[in-house]
Amino acid sequence: MKSAAKSELFRELPSVDELVRAPRFAALLEEHGATAITDAIRSGIARLREQISSGLLDGAGLGLALEGLNGAVEAQLRTVLSSSLRPVINATGVILHTNLGRAPLAEHALAQVREAGLSYSNLEFDIEAGERGKRDVHVDRLFRKLLAESLPSLIETAASAVPPGRSPAAPSTISTIVVNNNAAAVLLALNTLAEGGEVVVSRGELVEIGGSFRIPDVMAKSGATLREVGTTNRTRIGDYEKVINERTRLLLRVHRSNFEITGFTEQPSIEELVALARRRGIPLMEDLGSGALVDLEKFGIQGEATVLDGLRGGVDVVTYSGDKLLGGPQAGLLSGRSELIAQMRANSLFRALRVDKMTYAALEATLLAYVKHEYGKVPALRMMSLSKEEIGARAESVASRVPSGKVKIEIIDGESVIGGGAAPSSVLPTRLLAVTCSGVSADELSERLRASDPPVIARVEEGRVLLDLRTVFPEQDHLIVDALEHVVHF
Ligand SMILES: *Cc1c(COP(=O)(O)O)cnc(C)c1O
Repeated sequence: MKSAAKSELFRELPSVDELVRAPRFAALLEEHGATAITDAIRSGIARLREQISSGLLDGAGLGLALEGLNGAVEAQLRTVLSSSLRPVINATGVILHTNLGRAPLAEHALAQVREAGLSYSNLEFDIEAGERGKRDVHVDRLFRKLLAESLPSLIETAASAVPPGRSPAAPSTISTIVVNNNAAAVLLALNTLAEGGEVVVSRGELVEIGGSFRIPDVMAKSGATLREVGTTNRTRIGDYEKVINERTRLLLRVHRSNFEITGFTEQPSIEELVALARRRGIPLMEDLGSGALVDLEKFGIQGEATVLDGLRGGVDVVTYSGDKLLGGPQAGLLSGRSELIAQMRANSLFRALRVDKMTYAALEATLLAYVKHEYGKVPALRMMSLSKEEIGARAESVASRVPSGKVKIEIIDGESVIGGGAAPSSVLPTRLLAVTCSGVSADELSERLRASDPPVIARVEEGRVLLDLRTVFPEQDHLIVDALEHVVHF
């Protein structure tokens, strides 16, 4: 196109101001306000300008595009002004699904967040004394209660655990502080306890946890030097003992979380590590990751070490996540000997890694459920405790409500998993909806389910779409029915 013709077209473009005031944009203007409309119209016009420059639009094309400007502006407003973060239905059966936001919060925890968020609070204010307070008192008090209840003898154990020559006068109770996530907790602990020194870790525990948390990398950032011992499958207590020298600051045990090493393996017991740590006067830290606060055997999960197991066993500091097995908000918790925790609190990194009032509110409410033994209030624990029969009955009910036709649903046995790096090998028996649709591939079917509102996220296995209602809230079951009903009308 000649440049003369192009400048002719440019002249036909209406001005942004003129369009904003045009009657055809009045409704959108009323709904979204002048700023949003002006921006959307401006970018619509800019797009037309580009198309004219690159010769994509002639006179007729421009006429059509201008007529369609309403639709384009509306679509743009919808994308820009709607939330990108939105609820989805987790039908994968993975309870702590990292990509889907890990633990859903308890209703009462959210109510607490609302209260704390909507008004001022005593976050850092001592109401009685009328002066500045500390934000960590809010959850520390509940942790003390939980720990004292489960470990009546812990306080004494910890007191006797102070190695000779290490501030024996310091009160050796257990304290807890909260940071942004467990990765931050590990970073803070390593930096506080071992910066400039060495940390001994077994080669079998140099793990990567989803989202690029790698022990060697975090170690490097903390300023501590990693001292690897043993081999991938076998590490003995003697391996730790051999490398301890005057630069050794910490023995670190890392929960393998997302995998297991089986076969010809060996790993020192916590007792052996505690004994060695005591003998040499070096603290022992355990990065638990998932960190259950109660014994999960009552929920059918075997062999998942709890935070209390570690502390009871004499571990000096335990780090764990708030949004894994604990079932609360994203947070990293450090529980351990008060004098070590006090050092971490005094580290300026703690200030950089601290959490917001909303996290404290949600965490405190979640912990209260534990203190009151109201485990059913914590969604992650509630989902874990559902029986295969309960889930099966709901699956039957969903299947019976989907009109028979192209969609075929079978109810089959399957397994739900905990996820979030917890109990890698423990699975929970469940019943699954196995869905196929004639003429539609399983991948296409799962894509259509994701396109529902709210999106339904499912698993695809052996040419079928599998839906596990364990992770679907019962009040969402009807949305699964709707989604299955609509996958055929695409
Ligand atoms: C999950 C996990 C982490 C990381 O915790 P975030 O809360 O995701 O930061 C670190 N270590 C272990 C052993 C874990 O399981």
